[in-house]
Amino acid sequence: MQEALKVIINIQELDMKMIRLMRLKKERQKELSQIEALRKELHQQFSEKETEIKELDKNIDQHEQKIQEITAKIKKLETQQASIKKVDEFNAITQESTAAEREKLSIEQKVSDLVDKKVAEEELLEKIKQSLKISEESSAALEQEIFSSVRLINEEGAALKTQRDALAQKADSEMLRIYERLLKNKKDRVVVPIENRTCSGCHIVLTAQHENLVRKGENLIFCEHCSRVHYWEDSEATESGDAAAGTKRRRRRMANT
Ligand SMILES: [Zn+2]
Repeated sequence: MQEALKVIINIQELDMKMIRLMRLKKERQKELSQIEALRKELHQQFSEKETEIKELDKNIDQHEQKIQEITAKIKKLETQQASIKKVDEFNAITQESTAAEREKLSIEQKVSDLVDKKVAEEELLEKIKQSLKISEESSAALEQEIFSSVRLINEEGAALKTQRDALAQKADSEMLRIYERLLKNKKDRVVVPIENRTCSGCHIVLTAQHENLVRKGENLIFCEHCSRVHYWEDSEATESGDAAAGTKRRRRRMANT
């Protein structure tokens, strides 16, 4: 039983490495999509600004056209006025002309405001263009770094899988099946030693009777609190020094975080 469990424990160590590796890969891929999202956002801002400026141009054109119309109207009124002899008609045209001049002035003021706005928008557009350029340059290097790191992760993963496949062939298939089902649920070590009569998976204290069953090692014994499989660490393993046990515990803690 203990020998068969040892194979499973070795498989478990490879699986823990694989889980860490896949977590790392996911993080790196997340970084990639963040870079992509930032770039998309800047492109979006850029094209929005461009559309705004086009709208302003259109608006300015319309107003300028209106100014030309009014100018022509004023000229026409002046010509008309030249041939008019009656005072009241003359005055009416003067009034109309003055109103047209006022309208023209107000539209010219609007155009001037729109042009100011356009200049400001164009400055913003230039700034967006600059940050797009900077972000594209800096992200290119980062993206390359992430790509090669993902490539290394994939290679390491493939090597781990080869090792695991070889071990799985040696493993007791029923035990492996149980282990894999538990691992799928917990995504953490599921074959764990008893330490100080405590489950090192869920840290709940166990009974002496439970510990004895595990020490006997005749059957698979499950933690009644967290369903992990318990094993008894050989005395020779613990005798090899507290330092080794300490490392193991530290490793386990790290894996749990
Ligand atoms: Zn437990």
